[in-house]
Amino acid sequence: MNLHEYQAKEVLQKFGVLVPRGIVCDTPEAASAAYDELGGSLAVVKAQVHAGGRGKAGGVKLVKSAAEAQEAAAAMIGTRLVTHQTDAEGQPVNVVYVTEGVDIAREIYMAILLDRATSKLILMASSEGGVEIEEVAEKTPEKIFKEEIDPALGLMPYQARKVAFALNMKPEEIRGATKLMMGLYEAYTKCDGDMVEINPLVVTGDGQVMALDAKVSVDGNALFRQKEIADMWDASQEDP
Ligand code: ADP
Ligand code: MG
Repeated sequence: MNLHEYQAKEVLQKFGVLVPRGIVCDTPEAASAAYDELGGSLAVVKAQVHAGGRGKAGGVKLVKSAAEAQEAAAAMIGTRLVTHQTDAEGQPVNVVYVTEGVDIAREIYMAILLDRATSKLILMASSEGGVEIEEVAEKTPEKIFKEEIDPALGLMPYQARKVAFALNMKPEEIRGATKLMMGLYEAYTKCDGDMVEINPLVVTGDGQVMALDAKVSVDGNALFRQKEIADMWDASQEDP
């Protein structure tokens, strides 16, 4: 079962993962009010659909006023968003997520996923964030780092640090980066994850490490014991 970005971030936050503040809005007026409430000069209006590639498809808009936020939301809510990850019909946009604009110094890719060949989870990271990971894998596979996670031990802090070093994180960023990685792993295992993918994970101008986007999917067979997540089910995003 897939989650929306705003739901995924809500879950990840419970495990200590830093995310930008945001407000879910189902009308353009609410988006305008959300811009004011967030209080910054830059906000981002993001279409909530079960598909990536929204940025390139017009589903992620940087806005600098309440009026712009309202306009961006009006252009998204009630439409269908077609991205390279959807079919030609696209996915319906019922709500947008209005989030704080973040001062991005670096974009990184990070994911926890199951390696079916070894039956183990791996922590996968790449210095090439914001780009499709398939493209990185094809053109510059040396920029992808993988750490195999021992199921008996779980993700060890030294492994997270190793990945942070491989990503050339500065000393003052390492703590935030390892905290985020441990949080992703905790979320994956405690929530019966199928996959947790953060693209991009960003380092901000002041050295914070946060998840700017989040894709989380959960094993549908485990929903009986994941009541809170089961309630996040959005039937409108599924092809009947
Ligand atoms: P998608 O993967 O569906 O295209 P993202 O959430 O990854 O959507 O957003 C696409 C791009 O928009 C990001 O790579 C980033 O450059 C920019 N962006 C997204 N959210 C923010 C934000 N809160 N502040 C600044 N830039 C953002
Ligand atoms: Mg993304």
